Amino acid sequence: MTEEQTPIIVWFREDLRICDNEALWEAANSETPVLCVYVHDQESPGVRPLGGAALWWLHGALRDLDEKLLGLGNGLAIFRGMAIELIPRIAQEFGASAVFWNRRYGAAERRIDAEIKATLRGQGKTAKSFSGNLVNEPWTLETTEGGPFRVFSAYWRAARTIGTPPHPLPPPRRLGPHRGSRGSAVGRVELDELGLEVSQPDWASGLRQSWSRGETGAQATLERFLEYGFHTYATERDRPDRSVTSQLSPYLRFGNISARAVWHAALMSSASRTEQGVERNLEKFLSELGWREFSYHLLYHFPDLAHRSYRPAFEEMPWRHDAADLNAWRKGRTGYPLVDAGMRELWHTGWMHNRVRMVVASFLTKHLLIDWRKGEEWFWDTLVDADQASNSASWQWVAGSGADAAPYFRIFNPVLQGEKFDPDGTYVKRWLPELAGLPASLINRPWEASTSQMAAAGMVLGETYPRPIVDHGYGRLRALEAVKKLA
Ligand code: FAD
Repeated sequence: MTEEQTPIIVWFREDLRICDNEALWEAANSETPVLCVYVHDQESPGVRPLGGAALWWLHGALRDLDEKLLGLGNGLAIFRGMAIELIPRIAQEFGASAVFWNRRYGAAERRIDAEIKATLRGQGKTAKSFSGNLVNEPWTLETTEGGPFRVFSAYWRAARTIGTPPHPLPPPRRLGPHRGSRGSAVGRVELDELGLEVSQPDWASGLRQSWSRGETGAQATLERFLEYGFHTYATERDRPDRSVTSQLSPYLRFGNISARAVWHAALMSSASRTEQGVERNLEKFLSELGWREFSYHLLYHFPDLAHRSYRPAFEEMPWRHDAADLNAWRKGRTGYPLVDAGMRELWHTGWMHNRVRMVVASFLTKHLLIDWRKGEEWFWDTLVDADQASNSASWQWVAGSGADAAPYFRIFNPVLQGEKFDPDGTYVKRWLPELAGLPASLINRPWEASTSQMAAAGMVLGETYPRPIVDHGYGRLRALEAVKKLA
């Protein structure tokens, strides 16, 4: 095989890994040189540009992928521009015989991929897509009536009848080198030229301390979870004060690990365990992967998930437009400690515990009666795992506007949620050091502290920590009244 031979292009997108990557595997086994390509496309109409935290993640994931590919004999060629123009042009320029990729599921992405496929075939080239992001492709599951699922439990029952997914593929042993992985070409850039790694102002230092990005980080994170979190997953996954959940979400989001690989690793780990509750932990964990799959099922069948309420009645909701309240929520200055701790965790690490995500989302859409889309947008910009399916589906679930949504009248009480899921206040104290001096019984209700308790804790309500921006009872009733008026 020579570097001059006709290559197969592997177009990486949300599958930034070498293990269990069907498109890469097929290309590597073809006995032709492989040209690995990534197109940084923030311009294509309809494709939602990535938010700041996700862009930061992308930098690390691309660097890691490039290193891994170089280890196989062939680095990553990065391009900037619109994929719809670049992919056929790159294929022509390098005389590629075929372009392979793993599928994406957003409406705009599917449209672009279909157009590219048609163009490539028009050029006489092969264009082939594979399954890489999900355990089950979204169209493979349907109700007995032949339609999409709207309820998670029914979806998951159907998904579980399919049985164990195929074993993940190993990384290819070697990639036939191609000259295109070096040298210049129109649109070709170096990773650093994309300017994804922030420096001034350096808001990403907390992110950097919190994560090791890319496939290397994914493997380490998975191993850590299986060793330290998995055995109490079912009973403790709702506790933000314990590091029990896997924290694999950004890795799954960028495909630094495949859902199939995570599934099999959990299966293998539970098979080798003898402690009580193994089956429960496994089932619970797999069902959370199932929520991710269900979110993609919803996105596939309801492409406007990020922009339109799934339940049309919610489009008439009298949302409040209160910039000051929205800002207080974003900054973690609502006066409700669990909400504020979550929002500061998000800002610092780019991630937030699931239970707390539910509480902060409920607080925004119910207590503050602010449109779920405002919250979704903030999460989109600040989460390292910002995902077009899971983020919109979860926001709509909490707001009550989604398929299989939490009933609107179930309004989380942020004080009781804090007391139940962070009983010693460990989580709140970690993110709100200004409350650390309060006893645990007051940590979620600092306004009830006496003058002497506040003094002893070095806290001045309204100065060192805000008063609640809305009364819980009042906010709850206002939300209930608003929803009652919907058709
Ligand atoms: P684990 O508990 O270890 O679960 C394993 C994996 O399952 C996760 O990595 C994730 O991929 C998936 N998963 C778990 N819970 C859910 C869920 N409820 N919905 C969909 N997938 C799930 N998740 C995202 O990946 N991206 C988002 O943008 C996102 N936005 C959210 C917004 C709101 C308002 C809410 C309430 C939830 C959101 N979630 C999102 C879902 C969930 O909070 C995160 O997936 C989870 O907290 C990630 O932590 P983990 O990896 O430790 O999860």
